[in-house]
Amino acid sequence: MEIAIIGAGPIGLSTAGKLSSLGHNVIVYEEHRFIGIPQHCAGVVSRSFIERYVGSKHVLNRFSRIKLYSPSNISVTLDGNSWFVGVIDRIGFDYELYNKCYEYCCLGVRVKAVNYKKAAIEVNGILKNYDLVINAEGASHKILGKTLNPYVDRIPGVQMDLECKLNNVDLDTVQVFFSRLTPKFFIWLLPLGDGIVRIGLGSDRKPYTRLIYVLNKHPVISKQIGKYRVLKVFGGWILRGPALKAPYLSRLLYIGDSAIQVKPLTGGGLLTGLKSVDALTKAFTECSDVNNIGVRYAKLNLDLSMKLRRQRVLVKFLNLLVNTPKVMDKAFSIIGQSSLLDVISKDLDFDNHESIPRSLVFKAHLAISGFLRALTS
Ligand SMILES: Cc1cc2nc3c(=O)[nH]c(=O)nc-3n(C[C@H](O)[C@H](O)[C@H](O)COP(=O)(O)OP(=O)(O)OC[C@H]3O[C@@H](n4cnc5c(N)ncnc54)[C@H](O)[C@@H]3O)c2cc1C
Repeated sequence: MEIAIIGAGPIGLSTAGKLSSLGHNVIVYEEHRFIGIPQHCAGVVSRSFIERYVGSKHVLNRFSRIKLYSPSNISVTLDGNSWFVGVIDRIGFDYELYNKCYEYCCLGVRVKAVNYKKAAIEVNGILKNYDLVINAEGASHKILGKTLNPYVDRIPGVQMDLECKLNNVDLDTVQVFFSRLTPKFFIWLLPLGDGIVRIGLGSDRKPYTRLIYVLNKHPVISKQIGKYRVLKVFGGWILRGPALKAPYLSRLLYIGDSAIQVKPLTGGGLLTGLKSVDALTKAFTECSDVNNIGVRYAKLNLDLSMKLRRQRVLVKFLNLLVNTPKVMDKAFSIIGQSSLLDVISKDLDFDNHESIPRSLVFKAHLAISGFLRALTS
């Protein structure tokens, strides 16, 4: 089959590698001239993701703890005992995928338009026909917006790599701050080692200005960071769902961020995108008729889409339950004092955000009494 892939991010590149190894003729169009640039991703992934997809080569740091801060900086620490989360060098990771399929990639070529009925794309003013077009354009959603045009919940995210002294910071710990400045999301602080820290936030309003404010004025962060030198600033749209249930339109298929295949709690899309690549590859092995591949792919990926949609409902429910900084502070102080923390730490699964509420449900008596105390005290 002749297949055009739009976008040489990790998902487009993995798709190209897998489909070419099945014997298809693929061509990847990437609008930027360099792989992985501009960067937008923090690169936080689970240990099992690293072991399965990355190896140790592109790992910048490994963490065995996540420390969470309430708006008034009451903190609780989830301790995984050994490392369970890592931060990877996204540019290096993307390049490794590119090296496996560079001969099929056209860099610096933007796909301007798509005709999904004819599986045709417009590049450099020329219309080209394929058997199938795969949209891996990421979160820009220019093609998604002009074709399926679904509702997308997203917020701008900005982050910086800083050189600083990092006073009293445990290099083994990811820090997450819930703050009045980031009411719909959070601030993350990732020590990368060698005096370098990655800090970012998601906010609907003035994310860059707020990040600068946090660096200089946040009572915990400004003390930890002290004097700093900005090495780079980057960011992009953080998607929060809902994942497309049917990620295709005739002979145009959507995958990765273009299909909103992300974890709604964090906006992380590497694992979920690569899982979808597996489903898509399977659909190709099972269908010889090009017209059936979209339906098959949607069916094979339905469990994942539904799981992500359920996670989104859960996130919204949690937002409703813990809806003010005051309630969040109270919840943090109760969680810190009760045995809930041990329950959550024991069942911690970074790839499966349902694990935390699920373990809370199984220990419902602890959860309910904890939250009731938080809400009423
Ligand atoms: C601030 C921030 C932090 C994040 N942190 C994490 C994290 O810690 N962990 C995690 O798992 N995920 C994280 N993500 C999400 C993660 O970056 C994405 O899920 C992942 O990059 C999706 O890969 P993709 O290949 O679908 O899209 P992308 O990586 O966005 O790649 C899409 C590619 O398509 C190209 N393109 C777009 N339109 C066209 C066109 N018309 N023609 C040609 N080329 C085109 C783009 O240039 C780009 O190279 C974060 C996102 C943001 C914004």
